[in-house]
Amino acid sequence: MKKTRLPFSSLRIEDQNKIPAKTTSAVPSGHSTGDRKRSVRSSTYQYSKKRYGQVGRSRPFGEKNQYKNLNSGKIPPPESGVVRIIPLGGVEEIGKNMTAIEIGEDIVVIDAGMHFSNEATPGVDYVIPNTTYLEERKEKIRALIITHGHLDHIGGVPLVLSRIGNPPVYSRNLSILMMKKRQAEFPHLPKMKDNVVEKDETITCGKIKIRFFGVTHTIPDSMGIIVETEHGWIVTPGDYKLDQVDGIVSKEEEKEYSIFDKTKVLLLMTDSTNIENEGFSLPEIKVHQGLENLIRKVSGRVIIAAFASHITRLAHVVKFAESMGKKIAIDGRSMKTNIEVAVEAGLFQPKKGTIIPIEEANNYPPNKIVILMTGAQGEEFASLNRAANKTHTKFSLHKGDTIILSASIVPGNERAVEKMKDGLTRQGVRIISYRTAGEDFVHATGHGNQEDVKWLHRKMHPKFFIPIHGNHYRLVLHKELAMELGCPEENIIVPDNGSIIEISSDGQKMTLRKEKAPSGAMMVDGVSISDTQDVVIRDRVMLAQDGMFVIVALLDQKTGKLKKSPDLISRGFVYLKENQELLRQVRIMIKKGVEERIIKNPDRGMGGSPMDFDYIKKELGESISKFLYQKTEKRPLVIPVILSV
Ligand SMILES: [Zn+2]
Ligand SMILES: [Zn+2]
Repeated sequence: MKKTRLPFSSLRIEDQNKIPAKTTSAVPSGHSTGDRKRSVRSSTYQYSKKRYGQVGRSRPFGEKNQYKNLNSGKIPPPESGVVRIIPLGGVEEIGKNMTAIEIGEDIVVIDAGMHFSNEATPGVDYVIPNTTYLEERKEKIRALIITHGHLDHIGGVPLVLSRIGNPPVYSRNLSILMMKKRQAEFPHLPKMKDNVVEKDETITCGKIKIRFFGVTHTIPDSMGIIVETEHGWIVTPGDYKLDQVDGIVSKEEEKEYSIFDKTKVLLLMTDSTNIENEGFSLPEIKVHQGLENLIRKVSGRVIIAAFASHITRLAHVVKFAESMGKKIAIDGRSMKTNIEVAVEAGLFQPKKGTIIPIEEANNYPPNKIVILMTGAQGEEFASLNRAANKTHTKFSLHKGDTIILSASIVPGNERAVEKMKDGLTRQGVRIISYRTAGEDFVHATGHGNQEDVKWLHRKMHPKFFIPIHGNHYRLVLHKELAMELGCPEENIIVPDNGSIIEISSDGQKMTLRKEKAPSGAMMVDGVSISDTQDVVIRDRVMLAQDGMFVIVALLDQKTGKLKKSPDLISRGFVYLKENQELLRQVRIMIKKGVEERIIKNPDRGMGGSPMDFDYIKKELGESISKFLYQKTEKRPLVIPVILSV
């Protein structure tokens, strides 16, 4: 879809004279290298109120390119005894988490996540953290340590590893299996050097000693990481919530965290995702009970749509349904993969024949089947959405089915979910969402709410604190909460991606260096990975808003006049057939503009020296984009092309 485009020629409304093949290469695509010694931005023009002309100077995109002007190789190594911490991702967004810790000659990297592209990065497949700082210090990297198997922590692993010298990877069993599955999608990359660790193990990476501890999250085998320093521990629990009921933390959980009772925590770095939510997070056990109740009492078929990442919940549903003598059909690629991995990891072992293909769902009586599906977010191609709009080839809904949306709606997906719910209700099914009043609980977050967070801070008593995992305002809220709990303001730093934070060699001060590590997002776009695609992305955003307008003028070198009326091509701008008057005026402007400029500046073209097409194109691009804006209040990308014979 997004990759298929109609050829230009299909849009040309006036095309008597075909452009000779050899000159078409002179068409400035704006990004081709063919246009000699021209900057990438000089060939397209877009009107802006302050100053019209070349695109990009006054636009938001590209403004934040910290990585453009500095060479992170010039940042000196940390001084002896200093602990350097660099959050490289996950602190200006929720997603693509990655943090580096550098002490002496050693660097360890924690997590390497991704996040999916959004309206700010159209057409991009996904985004991973910027690895430039690490690439320049490959020889110091001793390990990549992964807290758990969610994509915002492992999604970037294959590509990141290949860029930072393929260091050994450490994580618990399930997370390693999840990474191996993902790595298999990149067969051309070097093999991952994976090491399974257990939560009470200790490893040594260079001179750095690292230990782990178990945490509760929505995926099994989640762990926190402890980096030992001479001044105390650096602790990051990864994603966590507390295993508690009514604020009483379970014995197992207390035991897990008891290692902090008699140790000094130098620095805590923790998740800020749910910092706005009051109270404790709803314990997962309540959701398990809620789903059990529903599976028991609903008389028709039960269809549960959930996050494929909530493996603990999926496993529980399969086990419970099986114990009730029901069959389970699983639909959706990520859901199937994750269940497979969970079985492979030995988390549960369904009996042969319990899990059936979705196309066999109709062979069983409604009360003998439970269906697990992806698509609780209304994602276009996920299975529940296909069932909702009747495009699912192997499955259809029946009147009397009950659909449980066992997920919260990720901000931004609200409309997609509403549309899907419309499609579902038109087919006579009943929908239970986590907002449905009076129902059993069907969803809980995997991240700690305020009370979980407070409990953790009190437990750890850190000297220094860096909030991570969240966009800026969430990190600031988390800072305020830490201050409420007694952490002095000067001991807290709210980082940006690429901030370089150092704890002094005496362990007494935490400061932010003035330099920054490169932090521009690395966009994975088809087969290319790059942190310098902002030009491409910006053009996509603008094309989506106002379209484009191409001018092709054929100039006679000898006479300095246009050979014929210029060709105009519009895409997503205005409907040309209904704007003939506008086009007529544009043509006159072009003709006059080009010819007058040549007459006024004879030395710019005539008289033996080659014509300065760049100059003419610039003038033309600027005046036409301004004119189009005045007439239409739209700001298409204007691409002037001048060919000469
Ligand atoms: Zn997670
Ligand atoms: Zn996460």
